[in-house]
Amino acid sequence: MKHRIILLTCAYLVLHSPLSTLHSQELPQGYFRNPLNTSIGLSATFAEFRAGHFHSGLDMRTGGAVDLPVYAAADGYVARVTISPWGGGKILYIKHPNGYITVYMHLNGFAGAIGKAVLKEQYAQQSYIISKMFSPNELPVKKGQLVAYSGNTGGSGGPHLHFEIRRGGDADMYTHSTTLDPLEFGLPYTDNIKPAIRGLKIYPVSGNAGVSGIDVPANNAITVDGPFYLGIYATDAAEGSTAKNGVDRIEVLLDGTPFFTYTTEAVPIDSSRMVNAIIDYTLFSRTRQAYLLTRSLPGAKGPWIPHCMGDGIFRLKAGSTHRIGVKAYDIKGNCAERVVTVTCKEATQNTTVKPSRGIAIRYNQPFNYQFHTLSLQLPTHTLYADDILRCESDGNIVTVKPTVNDIPPHKYYTLSIKGSLPGVPAEHTVVACINGGRTVAYKTTHADGTHTAQVRDWGSFTLMADTEEPVIRPINFSEGKPLKVSTLKIKITDNLAGVETYSCYLNGSWILAEFDGKTATLFIDTKGKLHENKNDLRVEVTDGAGNLTRRTFTITR
Ligand SMILES: [Zn+2]
Repeated sequence: MKHRIILLTCAYLVLHSPLSTLHSQELPQGYFRNPLNTSIGLSATFAEFRAGHFHSGLDMRTGGAVDLPVYAAADGYVARVTISPWGGGKILYIKHPNGYITVYMHLNGFAGAIGKAVLKEQYAQQSYIISKMFSPNELPVKKGQLVAYSGNTGGSGGPHLHFEIRRGGDADMYTHSTTLDPLEFGLPYTDNIKPAIRGLKIYPVSGNAGVSGIDVPANNAITVDGPFYLGIYATDAAEGSTAKNGVDRIEVLLDGTPFFTYTTEAVPIDSSRMVNAIIDYTLFSRTRQAYLLTRSLPGAKGPWIPHCMGDGIFRLKAGSTHRIGVKAYDIKGNCAERVVTVTCKEATQNTTVKPSRGIAIRYNQPFNYQFHTLSLQLPTHTLYADDILRCESDGNIVTVKPTVNDIPPHKYYTLSIKGSLPGVPAEHTVVACINGGRTVAYKTTHADGTHTAQVRDWGSFTLMADTEEPVIRPINFSEGKPLKVSTLKIKITDNLAGVETYSCYLNGSWILAEFDGKTATLFIDTKGKLHENKNDLRVEVTDGAGNLTRRTFTITR
């Protein structure tokens, strides 16, 4: 259904679109099975807008439970397992003979021989956190073979299975790879419910950061007095899925002629952060409502990027009235539509843009700058468009902010601050960014009285002292008292730089402690590992500023 819709606009798209080549490629239908045994209900669709990335797969609902069996989507072999307290948590990668890779995230554990291989690797490396590649003959799998159990590990906000299909990329199956919409591979999925257009906004072109959109009123009639672009907030519901999933495709027509078309069948992982530049990022970070903007920035181009007339800005003649049609489609072709009547009146005020004070930056050129004790090195394409950068100093705090587009940098840039904090050794000094009430400390290197960090934020930067050691706190056992549980829980936290490393030793030998980043909790399974009488459990934690805490607990069975 979806492909038919695309064909209708192909004549228009072909001139503008790198996508036309993608659509012509046939994706194998029915090759992959549903990795769960339950019917597919989604709490997130492919390419949904997130802060800093497009959602790279499907979030499959598991009924609020963990440990649902997860099956290999097709024949192949386990090519990689990664485990992290953050992000995707416990991740399984299966490589298939047709070149595609399926990825399963937030797992609770791995089945059979895979689980044994993972545990062996963790003890060999003495680390819960691993990234292990396997060769084709080590762990072959058959389509439908039990490979793992669903969970809630890593940055997951509730039990579910995150399922991806990837293509291409380097040996790590991540760098330079492209994620594809698994629903395009013919997985059984029911959706008879049409999307909802929840909001439309008109953004006057003013040339200043932080311009907010004006809501199109419910009667769908609005008057403008100059050039503008449109913001569209649309969501989709489906049987068995949550109501606020992403839509598949958005079309905007000006007086019946295609003006803007947006779809995301494929997202190159390297460019996924560009999502920040195609939505109203400021509004999104405040409300989680993602308004897709018709305006396109030159440094935010990719195969998902909207295909629009010129730069996606409406320039209507004064005194004229036009009809703007907005259509939102889901993957099954269900469509929601809204038509807005826009009247353009003579400009009442001078709309010429007042240039902001600051330093002009070209988005496609590197930029080096020195300001008081601060020095910046921005690589090419740190920004998505030319901008005016404002640097201000207030005491020990320096603020770095673009004035045209208020979007976080695409790339990490180098930020150095010269100086020292009274009585604080360099190794415990960190570069920190204060944004609103939130302080982020960066991993900082020190040389010649200068502290340097790779940062990916705009905001107010300063040097801060991190001399406080991490805190280790038992949750479900007490020192010296007999244990009531076999899985020990220990909270490990740090005030500023964050937990960098941790190790646990039971009676002198390294013991696996699973770390859940979102709750800052270590889980240690002691089943069958405790001596009859006294046991020593040593926990060591370091933070990102070189502070170490070591605690030993005496525990009895
Ligand atoms: Zn997900």
